[in-house]
Amino acid sequence: MKGKLLVIGFGPGSFEHITKRAREAIGESDVIIGYNTYVDLIRDLLTDQEIVRTGMTEEVSRAQEAVKQAESGKKVAVISSGDAGVYGMAGLIYEVLIEKGWSESKGVGVEVIPGISAINSCASLLGAPIMHDACTISLSDHLTPWELIEKRIEAAGAADFVIALYNPRSGKRTRQIIEAQNILLKYRSPDTPVGLVKSAYREREFVQITTLEKMLEFDIGMLTTVIIGNSTTFLYDGKMITPRGYQRKYTLDRQEQQLKPHERLKKENEPWSLSQEEVLTDENQMEITPLALASEALQTLQKTQGNEFLPNLSKDNVNEIDTAFQQESILEFAVSPGIANKKFTSGQMKLIAEIAGDKGDIEYTPHHQIILRVSTSNPNEVTSQLKDEGLLLAPIGDVAQVKACDFCDEEKDESIPYVKEIHKRIEGLKTPKELKIGFNGCAMACYGAVKEDIGIVFRKGKFDLFLGAKTVGRTAHAAQPVAEGIEKEHIVDMVERIVKGYANDGFPNERFHKYFKRLKEIEGFTYRDVPVLVTEQVICGD
Ligand code: SAH
Repeated sequence: MKGKLLVIGFGPGSFEHITKRAREAIGESDVIIGYNTYVDLIRDLLTDQEIVRTGMTEEVSRAQEAVKQAESGKKVAVISSGDAGVYGMAGLIYEVLIEKGWSESKGVGVEVIPGISAINSCASLLGAPIMHDACTISLSDHLTPWELIEKRIEAAGAADFVIALYNPRSGKRTRQIIEAQNILLKYRSPDTPVGLVKSAYREREFVQITTLEKMLEFDIGMLTTVIIGNSTTFLYDGKMITPRGYQRKYTLDRQEQQLKPHERLKKENEPWSLSQEEVLTDENQMEITPLALASEALQTLQKTQGNEFLPNLSKDNVNEIDTAFQQESILEFAVSPGIANKKFTSGQMKLIAEIAGDKGDIEYTPHHQIILRVSTSNPNEVTSQLKDEGLLLAPIGDVAQVKACDFCDEEKDESIPYVKEIHKRIEGLKTPKELKIGFNGCAMACYGAVKEDIGIVFRKGKFDLFLGAKTVGRTAHAAQPVAEGIEKEHIVDMVERIVKGYANDGFPNERFHKYFKRLKEIEGFTYRDVPVLVTEQVICGD
């Protein structure tokens, strides 16, 4: 009878996470060979199999013994934790077989049975940290020179991989994890989320979320896997999450925000993709595809640099490589010529066009502003160029925005200082939902202040205040007039209090008019229900 080797990964350690095939394979084998602890972990699955227990460091003799027993006609299960092909026994079994001139057609049968590797089991306990390109690096330098391990950490750090460190530390190997941390701190922020998982799905399971800077303050041992996030990994409700892609948006002074799911995969949100390039043709008018271009570039690189995929990483050129991987993000913000001034100069228009280039977006909105969306890795440069040209920049999204009129070409300028002060205090303030504050310099209110969430109209040296328009939708209505003749010295403070109150106490996504209705009273002004519409009775035949 021809023997067979069953190379089995039994997963992290719990019965529920062993695959059906792995269980069957253990059941159908005559001999089980494995490291003592692993045999103990699968004890419940054993029936009458002969057990060959070995110590941790006896991997080679374990593999040789397995091959010998299989050659004598037995079905031999070689067990590894996690996946047998990930720092497990699968490779070693093949090496021993190859040394003996084995081939699949003539030699013993070999079946490698996959299991859940630590990168997967540990990730599941942390949230979703390996959603994007990830790699595993073993810090064990028993069989791999430390110099090479260092190079791999450098490369993975520079290329923004999520990294799962296996074998991070043992009784004797304590320096490796410190060195790894030092290398990664060159490429990633000290706040980068890091997950430590010890004995995933085993008895003494321990899960800790920390940061790259603080990770060494916790217990890391032989049974720990360390998962280091990439530059986009974030924490939410105690979970470590890496988004699926790099699509990101910034607005001014605002933390980066992920694109909402429906915004993804839009052409303008993927300025970096190869397929964005114009169609190029060669001399025979054949289309040169991005793929062809990329392979040509790779071939050239291989010719000049030898067969190594990445250029040699040394301390001197690491920065260069870092820059090469610098990410572009989408920066979006509103731009206008001023608070009262509504006239762009041609120089400003030219600059806006230049900055947008062919790929950026210039959008004209109903709110007296142009939105500029550009892909950049240097947001400060973009914004300072525009500011130097005299443009006023403002964040967009769920923020407070002051919409003033042009004060009849700035001729009726008496109230301008007040709108400027309001602007200074609240423009860009984060609010539960977008909030527009209309400010008009005379009773004509031709810029429609009363149709905004908050309306302020200057009249006879004093201010009228309007609150809670429903600015969009079929049931849109103007704001309620709540006060007339507010003294000049009170208006700015009052508006500031109203806006800040809404910013602090509004529910997420609650529009201002709903907030007013819920509170019933703001600054002593009472909310009044909008009259219910009467449905017109249509008389038949009329
Ligand atoms: N073949 C195994 C890896 C063996 S190397 C697999 O695919 O998972 C041993 C390393 O794996 C340990 O140092 C630890 O980093 C990781 N590891 C294995 N099982 C683990 C578990 N249950 N919890 C956390 N880490 C584990």
